[in-house]
Amino acid sequence: MIFKIIVFGVVAYLVYAFFFKKNREKNVKDNNGEYLEDTMVECPSCGTYISKDEAVLSNGKYFCSQKCLTHK
Ligand SMILES: [Zn+2]
Repeated sequence: MIFKIIVFGVVAYLVYAFFFKKNREKNVKDNNGEYLEDTMVECPSCGTYISKDEAVLSNGKYFCSQKCLTHK
């Protein structure tokens, strides 16, 4: 009887650890994706916040468009 309880406990722990690990990996992956998408920078010319993907990089500063880059 005790043996059955121990086996059940071990199996339950392994199942729990398996799903917990999977969830953690998924969360880390989601957070990284979100972090990359949500990296917002302020345009030094007009103050608009844009994502780094759309920004124009010049002299280490991110501008929202070529227009702001040339009219600073
Ligand atoms: Zn701008």
